[in-house]
Amino acid sequence: MSFTRRLLLATTAVVFAAPAFAQAYPNKPVVVVVPFAPGGTTDIITRHVAAKVQDALGQPMIVENKGGAGGAIGANQTKNATPDGYQLGVGTVSTTATVPAIDPKAGYNPTTDFTPIINMALTPNVIAVHPSFPAKDYKGFIAELKKNPTKYAYASSGAGGIGHLQTELFKQAAGVEMTHIPYKGAGPALNDVVAGQVLIMFDNLPSAIPHIRSGKLIPIVIAAPERLKDFPDVPTFKELGMEQVNRPAYYGILGPKGLPQEVVDKVNAAVKKTLADPDVKKKIEDTGSLILANSPAEFKKQIDEEYATYKKVVTEKGLKPE
Ligand code: GLU
Repeated sequence: MSFTRRLLLATTAVVFAAPAFAQAYPNKPVVVVVPFAPGGTTDIITRHVAAKVQDALGQPMIVENKGGAGGAIGANQTKNATPDGYQLGVGTVSTTATVPAIDPKAGYNPTTDFTPIINMALTPNVIAVHPSFPAKDYKGFIAELKKNPTKYAYASSGAGGIGHLQTELFKQAAGVEMTHIPYKGAGPALNDVVAGQVLIMFDNLPSAIPHIRSGKLIPIVIAAPERLKDFPDVPTFKELGMEQVNRPAYYGILGPKGLPQEVVDKVNAAVKKTLADPDVKKKIEDTGSLILANSPAEFKKQIDEEYATYKKVVTEKGLKPE
């Protein structure tokens, strides 16, 4: 090969290599904001993925809990992040649908302020009670609430969140009363319910299930397409005629709007691969969750639809932020 040709090839290589090098994402750890306190389902599912994703992503994923305002504080942090892929967040049904649907001051529009990347999992929800609650099944639960309309309170993962909205819809449909006590996530809410400080909770199943299995919480009614094998005696909201309360929760990774396609593709592929890992898959499925691992377009469609559904429900039922 002539010297000129060799020089030309070398120059070409440099010209082609330079942009590839500049684009090498990720070249440092990726922070993922969980918009709730530790111990809730968002935290549980994200940490199962984060613990293993480095093999596929090439960099660690660092989970940062930022609870408060029903998840809106963490969601705003993700919205305002630099769109370079080094700060992402978890978008849940609460932060991407119920909170902005009920609260015009949430500070973001879930359909335009984020770049959806991948929805990791869907989960059933459950209304559960502390064992000291005088009833252990749905019929007794309703009878007790009707007998004592001012006596009981329920804990939720935050104001405007799915636990809050769905319990308010349930109260309307069942004709019962309970006072709402919001927390910075299901983790701290569960601590109080398991300790018997508040006797009723609406939770996503993964955080509640260890307490149900150990007898510290009793499941009363669930939001799931059908009864769960684990609790065959517990009815679904659907079979009680409360279709609107029978919606699932979800947990997906998203970033601020304007994320480069390369970041979206790499994080989607890495998280998808991690969710297929037998160990991660088993840990997540053992919580009663259904792994989704979908595409960015599918996740975007879910957010658009869920937000529209809850906006309609909020208007129809006259629900107001607290
Ligand atoms: N209930 C919240 C949601 O589904 C999650 C609560 C939590 O992770 O603490 O959006």
